[in-house]
Amino acid sequence: MADAPRIGVLAYQGDVREHLAALAEVGADPVEVRTLADLETVDGLVVPGGESTVIGKLAARYGLLEPLRERVEAGLPVLGTCAGMIFLAREVEGPPQDLLGVLDVRVRRNAFGRQVASFEAEVDVKGVDGGPVSGAFIRAPWVAEAGPEVEVLAELDGKAVAVRQGRLLATAFHPELTGEVRLHRWLLDLVLGSVSERGPS
Ligand code: GLN
Repeated sequence: MADAPRIGVLAYQGDVREHLAALAEVGADPVEVRTLADLETVDGLVVPGGESTVIGKLAARYGLLEPLRERVEAGLPVLGTCAGMIFLAREVEGPPQDLLGVLDVRVRRNAFGRQVASFEAEVDVKGVDGGPVSGAFIRAPWVAEAGPEVEVLAELDGKAVAVRQGRLLATAFHPELTGEVRLHRWLLDLVLGSVSERGPS
C-alpha cells in the first residue's frame, strides 16, 4: 500500500502497538513517531493512552511540543485516546504537566476512579455510524469544561467522554483495546480530506 496515507502513533509510552494495528486495519500506513524527523513524515497522528505525564515529559525532551503544536495549528488531524486526550488538552486539573494545549478543554484526570475501577462501556458517539462504540475506561479522564469550538460527541453518566474540535478527535476511553476501529477510520478520513486540500506533494 505504497500510497496509503502515513499516520503516526506517538510512541514514547502507552498502547502504541494496538493503535498501529487499528491504523493498519483501516488501510493507513502506520508508523511510530518519536522524533521531529518522524513527525515530518506523517499526515495524521494518534496520541495513545498510557500515562500523560510521561508522554508529555518525553515529548518535551525530544523537542516535539512546539513543532507538533505548529503542525496541529496548520491542520494535522490527531486522535487522542485517554492519556492522549489529556496531552492534547489546554488545561488539566491538579499539578501542572507538559501539555500540547491545542484542544480547548479542561480535563480531570482519573475522573472515573482508579485502576481497579476500570470498566468497559458502550458509548454512542455522534458521527460514528453502526451502533455504539465499545470503549475501555482505564483510569479515564473526563472533560470538565469545553470551549466554544469543541463539540461534545459522547457522554457517559452526564460527563463528556468524546470531543471534536476541527480535525482533533479525543476520547476519554480506549477504542483500540476492544477491537474498535471506527475512530481510526474517522481519523483516516480527516487525513484524506486534508491531503486533498493540500494537493499532492
Ligand atoms: N490516568 C492516565 C493519565 O492521567 C490516563 C490513563 C489511560 O490512558 N488509560 O495519564
